[in-house]
Amino acid sequence: MNILFLSSEVAPFAKTGGLGDVSAALPRALHRKGHDVRVFMPMYSRIEQNKYRFRSIDSLRGLKVMFGTRSFEVSIFAATLPGSTMEVFFVNCPQLYGRHAIYAHDGDEHLRFLVLCYAALEAAQRMRFAPDVVHCNDWQTAMVPLLLKTRFAWDGAIFGKTKTVLTIHNLNYQGTFPSNVLPDTGLLRSAHLLHQDQLHGGRINFLLHGILYATAVTTVSPTYAREIRTPEYGAGLEPFLKARESTVFGLLNGVDYDEWSPQADRLIPQRYDVDDLSGKERCKAALLSRAHLPVLPGVPLLGIVSRLTSQKGFDLLPDALSLGLREGKFQLVVQGSGEKRFERMFHQLRDKYPRQVRFQTAFDNPLAHWIQAGSDFFLMPSKYEPCGLTQLYALKYGTVPIVRKTGGLADTVQLWSPRTGGGTGIVFDDYDAKAVHWALEAAFNIYRDRPAYRRLQHNGMTQNFSWDHQVQKYEQLYSKLV
Ligand code: ADP
Repeated sequence: MNILFLSSEVAPFAKTGGLGDVSAALPRALHRKGHDVRVFMPMYSRIEQNKYRFRSIDSLRGLKVMFGTRSFEVSIFAATLPGSTMEVFFVNCPQLYGRHAIYAHDGDEHLRFLVLCYAALEAAQRMRFAPDVVHCNDWQTAMVPLLLKTRFAWDGAIFGKTKTVLTIHNLNYQGTFPSNVLPDTGLLRSAHLLHQDQLHGGRINFLLHGILYATAVTTVSPTYAREIRTPEYGAGLEPFLKARESTVFGLLNGVDYDEWSPQADRLIPQRYDVDDLSGKERCKAALLSRAHLPVLPGVPLLGIVSRLTSQKGFDLLPDALSLGLREGKFQLVVQGSGEKRFERMFHQLRDKYPRQVRFQTAFDNPLAHWIQAGSDFFLMPSKYEPCGLTQLYALKYGTVPIVRKTGGLADTVQLWSPRTGGGTGIVFDDYDAKAVHWALEAAFNIYRDRPAYRRLQHNGMTQNFSWDHQVQKYEQLYSKLV
């Protein structure tokens, strides 16, 4: 199949979270299965130019992207995706992508990603690449299905048979802009196709238009696919998702085990596998030393690697963590940045318990691998979690996940049962500090029972969430549509 895949993040070129991992691993797996996959992303100025070999695509030189009142000169570069022979295409437009961050939140954020959409579709035309499927991801590329029905509908030779898939990686980021951006979208003449109530209410919600016009909508776990049809998780879009119920699918994300497994990981101090965990002990010692924390025999180390947002459940932590820290029950290494109040909270915990807590705000992929490998438990008390990748990584590294039963966490971590010896982690239901406290106590008790803890590690490490398996779900969906 010909697949045009659009994303605002593709790891390792640009990544803020799971979207970047998935937008690399899924196309890589599809390419490996023999599909012709063309991935398009922005050429952010913060991509490390000297790390990859970029070549300019002559046939795409002098691409002029014009829509509405706007006109942009763009050029297209290509570079090979690490770990694959597949090329990724980069839309180069310095006036839009030369910013301090991937998501700049400037007044022209809508334009930054509309240019990605228009440029990718125009590049497909120039390359005479007729996609069977255009796969869009999140709000940044969610206007594509509507663009294909309007601005690009004339080109039957290229897009005549194209179907569209929108994957929602996180429903709470919707790309909502004031309706005065309408002339900027190039859709002024098709304004009747926009959601009228919202337009009259003064808003254009990009994600909503993807939900309305994509041939199929997917999200990244079966449980989240159900949850987002409810007011609690639907972020206001639940009526639209419910209306499209028969075309909304929950396809669980996978893991690229070439990158994220202790036997293949080139970034950790020592590799190990399920049959010999001595390397994991050395990884823990190395992590403690790097974090300037003392070795405290018999004390478990908790790891957190996360964007620091309220989605991730950090509101619950001050009380639950302080209790155990005061009693010297665990050490904690946290890596993450985001909301200042959470950064303050972890700084305070570090100041109060300097022998037990280390907090690192940098976005640092190698350190994320060290934490996965060196921790005994991995904490994710999420309020909601579309899929979550870090608990899947943790399972493979023998780092027992402590998670709240929501979204993808509910689908991928099963509660440990001392009776049967089954289960892969500690799972709690309620979104409150008491439940976190219960889960931490349960974890520490299991940690003291060495055979039980080893069994739990073993259960997790032998789970298989490989993309090689999950990619088939996408292939089946695509085949159903075309
Ligand atoms: P989300 O997409 O909601 O952020 P996921 O669990 O799906 O959560 O994916 C998070 C990804 O981002 C993982 O690959 C994780 O290792 C990475 N990550 C998060 N914060 C950092 C950080 N500060 N430094 C390095 N990697 C990080």
